[in-house]
Amino acid sequence: MDFNSHTDAVVRVAVALVNALTPGEQRGRAFPEPADLGAAATAALRTVYPSFREVSAAEGAELAEVARRLRAVFTAVAGDDIDGAAELVNALLAETGARPHLERHDGEPWHLHFHGPGGTMAGDWAAGCATGLAVVLGSEFHDRLGVCTAPHCDRVYVDVSRNGTRRFCSTACQNRVKTAAFRARAKG
Ligand SMILES: [Zn+2]
Repeated sequence: MDFNSHTDAVVRVAVALVNALTPGEQRGRAFPEPADLGAAATAALRTVYPSFREVSAAEGAELAEVARRLRAVFTAVAGDDIDGAAELVNALLAETGARPHLERHDGEPWHLHFHGPGGTMAGDWAAGCATGLAVVLGSEFHDRLGVCTAPHCDRVYVDVSRNGTRRFCSTACQNRVKTAAFRARAKG
């Protein structure tokens, strides 16, 4: 799956922000909201943009709120509620005032970014992530957003495999489920 490299990147950012900043469960363990949202947001953004600047605590808190909204989109798609997901994304696009803007930086060719009108970092990421998810939902790959199906895990993912059969957030969860199934068979 390759919408275009920038869209792929902002969708990966959406996944990283949801997984780093929203509380729930991760790979069989409770995942509380991080105490240091600035540091957690910085680490998440750097998984996609390694040289991204340090995120402040206030910006981290704003991004956590954005992440909560983005999670709802993944949850809706995972529950086969594509209509609901589309409504959530449309609401985010409207609220964030996402507007296209051509940019050229870091030696890249001109490419399309989406920004919010306020010029804040969280507002820009909210607009960019909403647009990235809108591109996915508006494509033949609209069902490629997911929530991990392993027990006690609710981390999200975007399925970029060719046949679209991904079900887990990570190989760690995939292996947990395989091991449990193997043990169940051995017992039975
Ligand atoms: Zn998982």
